[in-house]
Amino acid sequence: MNNCIFCNIASGEMPSDIVYQDDKIVAFSDINPCSPVHVLVVPKEHVKSLDQVNDFALVSELMRCCVDLAKKLGLNEGYRVVVNTGVAGGQTVEHLHFHLLGGRNLAWPPG
Ligand code: AMP
Ligand code: ZN
Repeated sequence: MNNCIFCNIASGEMPSDIVYQDDKIVAFSDINPCSPVHVLVVPKEHVKSLDQVNDFALVSELMRCCVDLAKKLGLNEGYRVVVNTGVAGGQTVEHLHFHLLGGRNLAWPPG
C-alpha cells in the first residue's frame, strides 16, 4: 500500500464498490454520496490533479467512461460531471477523479 487512497482502491488493496474497470480506469461508488448516483471515475495511474495531466487523451477516456456509465446507470434525465482541482477547487483527494452525479435534480449554481 502507498498513502494514496485511490491508488490503493485501483490496486484492489483497499475495498470499494467497483462499478466498472478496465486496464486504465476504475470507477467506484463515493463513500459519502451527495446524490443517489455518485460514482468516482479514476485513472489507475497516479496523476495528482487535472492540473498535472500531460496526456489529455486520458481525460477524454475518463469523460467517455462517465458518459457510458451515465447511460448504464439509467441517468436518462441528465447528470453532472465534476472535476474539483486544487485546494480552492475543493479537491481533497490528490489523485485525479471525475465525479459522476445524478439521480436527482441538481441545483445550479452548486451551493
Ligand atoms: P474531492 O473533494 O473532489 O477530492 O472528492 C473526493 C471524494 O472522495 C469525496 O467525495 C469523498 O467522499 C470520496 N472518498 C474519499 N475516500 C473514499 C473511499 N475510500 N471510497 C470512496 N470514496 C471516497
Ligand atoms: Zn494515487
